[in-house]
Amino acid sequence: MSTKPTAITDWGRYSELGVTDEGSARSAIVAWGLAHRAMALYAGGPEPVIRRGKKQWQAFAAEATVPELRRALGGILFENHLQARRSDQTTPIGAPIAPVVRYSSLAVTDTSGLEAATKLVAATYYRRPGEFAYQAWEFVNATYFGAELPWPLITWGLTAHGGCLGYTASAADRSRPPRIQLHPSLLGGTEKENPWGISPGMLGAAFAFDTIVHEAIHVSVDYRLGGATGESSHNCAEWIAEVNRLAPLLGLVLFQAGSNRVRRVAVPDAPLTKRGKVQTKPVRQSDATLNGRPAGFDLVARFPRAVRLTLGQRDYYRRNALPFEHALQAGDVGTKAAERF
Ligand SMILES: [Zn+2]
Repeated sequence: MSTKPTAITDWGRYSELGVTDEGSARSAIVAWGLAHRAMALYAGGPEPVIRRGKKQWQAFAAEATVPELRRALGGILFENHLQARRSDQTTPIGAPIAPVVRYSSLAVTDTSGLEAATKLVAATYYRRPGEFAYQAWEFVNATYFGAELPWPLITWGLTAHGGCLGYTASAADRSRPPRIQLHPSLLGGTEKENPWGISPGMLGAAFAFDTIVHEAIHVSVDYRLGGATGESSHNCAEWIAEVNRLAPLLGLVLFQAGSNRVRRVAVPDAPLTKRGKVQTKPVRQSDATLNGRPAGFDLVARFPRAVRLTLGQRDYYRRNALPFEHALQAGDVGTKAAERF
């Protein structure tokens, strides 16, 4: 059994490869063995884990059973993964592992087709809702954000805690673009109940559009404005500034966003203190106003939906008359697929 490299056996646990072509598997293993040796020589680093000559690799490949070949190929994938990690660091890697490296990971370096790729994926897997979300995103980005937002991956599915209409995951260091998840119930149609207690007649393209606007503001705060610096992603100067910039653009001229702060207010009908002062207590209050009157902070945190609903703009949602052509124009949410959550 001296031809059976133990390290490769150990790596077998990483492998669930359905190797069916033994010929290719054997060639790959020989190629990997040679590459591994060359790499170790080039790098001049630590002793290679497995030292074999070409003939030994050929002998191994010739004698190995199919399960052994599978395990060995698992080792190749794992080894390439390690090489990829090492190459981020300082050890020079000769990397003559071209024959198999392309299987090791999706080492995508050309992202020029990303927008088209994500739209294709969305249209393929979500059909019209998938197309709609990107059409809405393009409109929102161009119209309200000067096309400065990074391109997101937009998916449809249950959101965190189920209670959110949408959810945006940003990378704090902006090392990758954002992901936006939209709840399928936004479009209504397929479900009698929705998790938010919103009348089913409100749901649809316009309601989903407002959710996309909301998520786009999160993206803007996180990627354009350097991140939220306040108490929360909504109760922060950046969010409030964006809401106030967008409100008139969305026709919500009566709304003024403001922060949510704790302040001391007089206790009504309370006697004066021993020192003869008015009794006060701390109260959390919103600085937001609607039509000049104080408005709850939920209008800021759930902008723009909560503002529209408070203003009684139910027809806006019922009519679904969005200012751009989109895949849900006919009010059809597309495939009524049997989705199980
Ligand atoms: Zn939010």
